[in-house]
Amino acid sequence: MAWSRFRKKRDMPEGLWVNCKQCNQTLFTKELTANHQVCEHCGYHMHQAASERLETLCDAGSFVELWDDLFTKDRLDFIDKEPYPEKIRKSADKSGLTEGAIAGTGTIKGQPVAACSLDFAFMGGSMGTVVGEKVARTIELATAERIPAIVISCSGGARMHEGALSLMQMGKTSGAIARMHDAGGLYISVLANPTTGGVMASFAALGDVILAEPGALIGFAGPRVIRETLRTELPKGFQTAEFLLERGFIDRIVKRSDLRDDIATAIDFLWTYTDEQREKYVVRGARAETVVVARDALEGEEGEGEGVEGGGEATDRGPDAS
Ligand SMILES: [Zn+2]
Repeated sequence: MAWSRFRKKRDMPEGLWVNCKQCNQTLFTKELTANHQVCEHCGYHMHQAASERLETLCDAGSFVELWDDLFTKDRLDFIDKEPYPEKIRKSADKSGLTEGAIAGTGTIKGQPVAACSLDFAFMGGSMGTVVGEKVARTIELATAERIPAIVISCSGGARMHEGALSLMQMGKTSGAIARMHDAGGLYISVLANPTTGGVMASFAALGDVILAEPGALIGFAGPRVIRETLRTELPKGFQTAEFLLERGFIDRIVKRSDLRDDIATAIDFLWTYTDEQREKYVVRGARAETVVVARDALEGEEGEGEGVEGGGEATDRGPDAS
């Protein structure tokens, strides 16, 4: 249901060919998509849509999107070059997304998970209230359901247009992860290119297992800012996944084509499901129902996430309202 909606809205002009950003070879778009947006010549990992990431990660047809009725509100009446709601609307039109993240549940080789993927195509995958809320809910749902959580980050960081509300998402998501850890949960963080700013400084860095895509830019401030601030040359490969792996900051670099297998193996090693859980998530309808019940229970305990409008009440900023 959810996928067809994204596909319909995605109306970006699609050329037959694109050039690889790294080796500049010309690539056939269809082949590139079949190869998970990875250059066949040099292995460069190009941008991949969140929907595509989740589709590839989860068993065919198993992913059920949740919380797609969360739309951003312009609480600060923020205007830079244009009003923030206008920017949101344009980004939604261009990307076919309602916000910078997609979240839900699915199975990976028959193992139930809660999963969320950020999408760089929507305002640079920046974390505003809705992105933060989706990540937090993914973690909370996984904790309540006692299933692993997976978050694929691809983001420039906190969304400046939401000021402090955006920075608060760092605390909210980190708090949800801390509660998950206390409950003995499993959280796998995947860092795609780029993962920077407030996203890296919060949930992206807090995985029990941290995986990264080859060549991904990972850090807090960008290399140029650091170079200019410190007035010094940075080491070769600074802030790349490979650089951080050598220094023990991430656990493993995984090619996109291997990600599903690797995550499935990690879960197999680190997690045990009850027969009831497996049964519950096998039948698609039963799974969706279970998830909604679990979220209701959480809302009863902790209330609504701040700064987010839910319950299908799209604001005038909601792309579906126009
Ligand atoms: Zn290439």
